[in-house]
Amino acid sequence: MPDWFFWSGGAIIGLLGLMLAAWALIGDRSRGRRRCPKCWYDMSATIGLRCPECGREAKREKKLFKPRRRWRLVFVSVIPLLAAGFFAAQPQAHRKGWASLLPRSVLILSLNVRGWDWAFDETERRFEAKWLAGPGSDEPNRRMLYDWQWRMFAESCVDVMTSDRPTLTRVNAIWSLSSIATLFPPQDVRSYYERIARLLDDPDPQVRAGAALYGVNLGEPTAAIARLLPLLDDRNQQVREFAVLGLRLLSHRSAQTAPALLKALNDKSWIVRKQAIGALGVLGERGSAEPTLLDAVAAGVADSDARVRRSCPWAVRRFTAHEPRAWQIFESMLRSDDEDVRSGALEAISDSTDAPANCLSALIDALTDPSPVIRTAAAESLSFMDTEQLRPFMDRLKAVPMTDPGVSTAVGRQLRAADAIAITDP
Ligand SMILES: [Zn+2]
Repeated sequence: MPDWFFWSGGAIIGLLGLMLAAWALIGDRSRGRRRCPKCWYDMSATIGLRCPECGREAKREKKLFKPRRRWRLVFVSVIPLLAAGFFAAQPQAHRKGWASLLPRSVLILSLNVRGWDWAFDETERRFEAKWLAGPGSDEPNRRMLYDWQWRMFAESCVDVMTSDRPTLTRVNAIWSLSSIATLFPPQDVRSYYERIARLLDDPDPQVRAGAALYGVNLGEPTAAIARLLPLLDDRNQQVREFAVLGLRLLSHRSAQTAPALLKALNDKSWIVRKQAIGALGVLGERGSAEPTLLDAVAAGVADSDARVRRSCPWAVRRFTAHEPRAWQIFESMLRSDDEDVRSGALEAISDSTDAPANCLSALIDALTDPSPVIRTAAAESLSFMDTEQLRPFMDRLKAVPMTDPGVSTAVGRQLRAADAIAITDP
């Protein structure tokens, strides 16, 4: 059934209910008849205000002309009104469950009822769908709930994440708590972090992983790093990976993550190694890294896994702002014999506005590389580059043979852009 069927059906039933209620409230009007307001005995032949039938004495003459309202029917008309609401709510109830129709406060209070798992599931659903600061954000929109409601939600996150509910539900609870906790004063943030950190040795590996990644933004960096360290030896690969992702987040706040990340570079899983290289790049970008970290990242080009080798140039690129040697290393990657390193470097140089001339020169050389993969990557990067910084290379771009469609499109676009600048410049 389409939604309009339920809405218009609900509207019709509701209208009938309202009409019934109105008719019952207007009631049987006196139209000049004198009637006892209690038993409705006809008092047109009676003198005075006392009813000869039931003995009730009306207070004033006016009372004898009261309309006779049908109170029982007024109550009966509540039934079609409820039915109308029930009918109109069907589409939403069908899509999101009956709990989605509950008012916010009722829902939040239901969190406290033992065994009502649906209340947490529905709160969690609304939190992700409507109570965040924006789409894709993981920050709560404080105005959506009262403080006591946020508090109850946080407390029930604690209950759920330490319960025996399904893994995904528990991990969601950790995530929600790590987000909501930021609304509370610092001592509460610390205590919620403690609750999450206790799950770092949970028997369920996915819970350990969730605690490693989601908890860190609440923790004081030095303590959080110390607690993540043992997870780098976890048997489960995802736990080690999420521990490194947690360290990556912490790297924005502290350079003390370096020893742990260097250790993770030797992990047997390529994903963990790749994440560790990326996290070291964060340290490089902050300028808080020891020069030896750059060498550790650069050594990744010898990794056995192509996906790790490809990621190295990205991390080296992040060191360039603070470490003069980084561009040299980056150029050697652009000219590497390893195709994966070369294409990784070509991707990593795109949209950079500070690349030195020798790197731009290597980029243009790659347009005529023997490998079509490399030529395509070079063309892609070229189309993102700022035309102004390519100015010294226009003659070389004109000389690039227009055999590849991708390459000729990118080169053509840059040449036309350069012409347009030349015309508008005095
Ligand atoms: Zn009477």
